Amino acid sequence: PSGPALLFVKTSRGKEEGRRFYACSACRDRRDCNFFQWEDEKVSETRLAAREEYNRNHQPFFTHRQNVERYKNFVLLPLSKRKFCQECQQLLLPAEWEKHSHHQFLCDISTAQLKSPSQLLYPLENKKTNAQYLFADRSCQFLLDLIIDLGFRRVLSVGTPRLHEIIQSKASQEEDFRVRSLLLDIDFRYSQFYAEDEFCHYNMFNHYFFGGEAARETCRKFLYEDNGERVIMVTDPPFGGLVEALASSFKKLMSMWKETEKEGHNSQEMPMFWIFPYFFESRILEFFPSFSMMDYQVDYDNHALYKHGKTGRRQSPVRIFTNLTPSMIVLPVEEGYRFCTICQRYVSSGNQHCETCNSCTSKDGRRWKHCVLCKKCVKPSWFHCNNCNCCALQNHACEKTDAGCFVCGKAGHKRSTCPSLSRT
Ligand code: SAH
Ligand code: ZN
Ligand code: ZN
Ligand code: ZN
Ligand code: ZN
Repeated sequence: PSGPALLFVKTSRGKEEGRRFYACSACRDRRDCNFFQWEDEKVSETRLAAREEYNRNHQPFFTHRQNVERYKNFVLLPLSKRKFCQECQQLLLPAEWEKHSHHQFLCDISTAQLKSPSQLLYPLENKKTNAQYLFADRSCQFLLDLIIDLGFRRVLSVGTPRLHEIIQSKASQEEDFRVRSLLLDIDFRYSQFYAEDEFCHYNMFNHYFFGGEAARETCRKFLYEDNGERVIMVTDPPFGGLVEALASSFKKLMSMWKETEKEGHNSQEMPMFWIFPYFFESRILEFFPSFSMMDYQVDYDNHALYKHGKTGRRQSPVRIFTNLTPSMIVLPVEEGYRFCTICQRYVSSGNQHCETCNSCTSKDGRRWKHCVLCKKCVKPSWFHCNNCNCCALQNHACEKTDAGCFVCGKAGHKRSTCPSLSRT
């Protein structure tokens, strides 16, 4: 139901060659989708048939086109007849009320509510699938202002329904507002509120357009408009997602843009904001060496942990990665960001320029300290451990020399830095 599966490899300690298998690209929990197949497995006719039936049963009840028709009818209804079923997460037409009579309704759905579906729909928080965490107004407004100040006119919103929504709603309300957005998201509920040229049902882990060639063409057209100029892609994927799979899809979207073949931008990349936690910096740079990480802390509404530091909660670890020149990304001074003239970028107030590293080295907003032995800056809570020959928390368990790497079994490194991983 989520489109093509991804090929994974199961590794076991001490073995270099793992066994390869296919699993669902979108669901990282077998309870949400139990698709599993060894790469070399022969699948029987019966199992294939069962799979096909399963897929048929897991299609959305209405098509996008049908949902668009329904919406047109819905807005013609007087306020008193506009109901939304909270259980089915669906706008209801009067003939359907009966069928949902045991469900909870929201009544008197206003035009304003229809223009902010992210407030009407409940967020799909399941961490292993949708992980839908909506931007706090502060962050959403910041992103939009930044996009406008940078002169962009079109936004490809990949997994950013709330950004899409404020753009759409401003475009319909303010006459001189010229920015437009196309939403690509796996959450099909949004097809009830947006036309086929405003939303494509899309899986960002396998670059799959559920609407087939027509939907792909919608996306291509959007990117091609205005000769491909002044368009930026903004994406905020689930943090549990595989960076490799995401990067592969984003590269495909980038090359879709590149096909505009406008002279001059052959060597250029489509401008992009990839919103992701700072601890994925090295992974993202591995796939996109032209990217850099901005200090801006992105906040969320429904994420208890990732709210702005100023409210007394923990600071958000979520940042913006971009291929635009860092000095162009102006961060709000009133929130404590300042411009470092040496690094030529805005940094958070606690981020001190280290003379030795010659850069503003803090990743989490706190002031980091330089360790001469490690030859780099480290978190303020870390101390140099002579046993491990690196900096770590004071009460860390020293790395046992006999415990080898989980992937290849050799000593001297951990799974995350295993040299055999890059090969598989
Ligand atoms: N902060 C953003 C929402 C990010 S949450 C905002 O406020 O607009 C992650 C988003 O990615 C959700 O909208 C979710 O539906 C979408 N998503 C999750 N898995 C996806 C997938 N495989 N393909 C496309 N979109 C996906
Ligand atoms: Zn219902
Ligand atoms: Zn330093
Ligand atoms: Zn150290
Ligand atoms: Zn140690």
